[in-house]
Amino acid sequence: AEFTAPRLRRVRPSPTAVISDRVRALSESGVDVINLGEGELDFDTPDHIKQAGIDAIVQGDTKYTAVAGTAALKKAIINKFSRENQLTYQPNEVIAGSGAKQLIFNALLATVSAGQEVLIPAPYWVSYPDMVALADGEPRIIACTEDNGWKLQADELKAAITPETRWLILNSPNNPTGAVYSTGELRALAEVLLDAPHVLVMADDIYEHLCHQPAEFATLAQVEPRLASRILTVNGVSKGYSMTGWRIGYAGGPAWLISAMQILQSQSTSNPSSISQAATVVALEQDNGFLADWREALDKRRRRIMACINQIDGLSAELPPGAFYVFANCSGMLGKTTPKGTTLASDVDFVEYLLDAAHVATLQGSAFGASPYLRIAYAIDDLRLDEACERIVRACAALR
Ligand code: PLP
Repeated sequence: AEFTAPRLRRVRPSPTAVISDRVRALSESGVDVINLGEGELDFDTPDHIKQAGIDAIVQGDTKYTAVAGTAALKKAIINKFSRENQLTYQPNEVIAGSGAKQLIFNALLATVSAGQEVLIPAPYWVSYPDMVALADGEPRIIACTEDNGWKLQADELKAAITPETRWLILNSPNNPTGAVYSTGELRALAEVLLDAPHVLVMADDIYEHLCHQPAEFATLAQVEPRLASRILTVNGVSKGYSMTGWRIGYAGGPAWLISAMQILQSQSTSNPSSISQAATVVALEQDNGFLADWREALDKRRRRIMACINQIDGLSAELPPGAFYVFANCSGMLGKTTPKGTTLASDVDFVEYLLDAAHVATLQGSAFGASPYLRIAYAIDDLRLDEACERIVRACAALR
């Protein structure tokens, strides 16, 4: 440990890694664990996209490319933003990277000075605060409430902005709550941001395609074009196209910011995989009609897991409009005693109980900045989900 740099002490090991390790250990010892912890769709990458990757290899498309992405990919990204979000970008205003994660990290590292604040509405994706800390910034968590559908309110935003604020991170549809900001809600936040010209906004739209009616996706730069020069719109193919392993994300924003991110990328990872870029061109340009079927399957699973939660005394949640997570309140479970005689004192205890007693893996809300809650990722096979629901109901009924 004496060889590690001080900056490493500013980040915590992923709070979800502990559970992942236990899941792996249990599975390896032969236990049939159902994993509702994974932030990943169970659908396969569509065949025509896979084929584009195979074609790229066969055609020798296997060398370095331009750091920010091939011309063909940039064109596909520009067309995507224009077609789906009514956003206009030039080639020097878009960049592709090895996942949305790398782009978010590079954007923060390129812009945050020591002590500057980044506003992060909670519950949040686990990586944001640690990325800010690695960039020497100060994560400023704004606690959102279940009563507001887990969405940041304009007055809360206004109260949180200081002269030191550098960024606001907005994530819709949200991980872990599934909350989706409406155009009107974004407009209210935009009013506040128009009065704060020193604040940049990161719109993390990675779950864009996973919205359920009547919720409709909207993004801040589209809602308020006057803010566009201060917004980095981040997206990718991991969630909407079930391409997590291909590692492609992309972003659109002001040329100065894209150029700064490109410099960092050029000195760290260079271009994202040429093969994955070729596949992403096809993903973005060809018909994505399969998404309607995916959403229908996810909607069915969403209702299945909600029925399970509603059936259990001590668990509650609202139907999440987007992504593939339910963020369930488990305060009614605290204080209960397990058949082995331990008392549940926190959401971590409850998660461990479900893993031990039901062999179902979930994640504690405290990892996402809100407790006591339970994040349940329901993007798994229907029969397995049924089985998981039955196990959870049985384990909860055994509590006293
Ligand atoms: N943003 C959010 C909110 C996420 O949940 C994730 C993945 O879990 C990412 C970004 C990163 O996605 P990618 O696979 O493109 O790096």
